[in-house]
Amino acid sequence: MASLRKTIASKLKFWLKKKKSYNEVLFFKSIDDPGTPKKDQIFVIGEKNYSKRLILACPDSCGEIIMLNLMPEYSPSWKIRISKNKKISVYPSIDNTNCGSHFWLKDNRVIWAKYIIEK
Ligand SMILES: [Zn+2]
Repeated sequence: MASLRKTIASKLKFWLKKKKSYNEVLFFKSIDDPGTPKKDQIFVIGEKNYSKRLILACPDSCGEIIMLNLMPEYSPSWKIRISKNKKISVYPSIDNTNCGSHFWLKDNRVIWAKYIIEK
């Protein structure tokens, strides 16, 4: 029972810490040096109509920076869709095997698939 309570407590703590959405999507040219995105930013790197990379801070606040390839000629690659109000959706889901985060991004919102708490 005690361990179950502990598991629930750690899960709760984790859910509170988890990000629900990103606030800002910023666009950079390939030659730019965008630096590191802040917690609530998503960087799209590339030319007009040809996005190359997506950079974002892992939404579970583990501190890791996730970089995704958007060029279909390289594998694995992700697709993005930018809405009129500059919100981003990413396909397929993002699976950060380093920390166990697995989530979808839909209109800047993080939709969690799973999280492996045991490390
Ligand atoms: Zn993480």
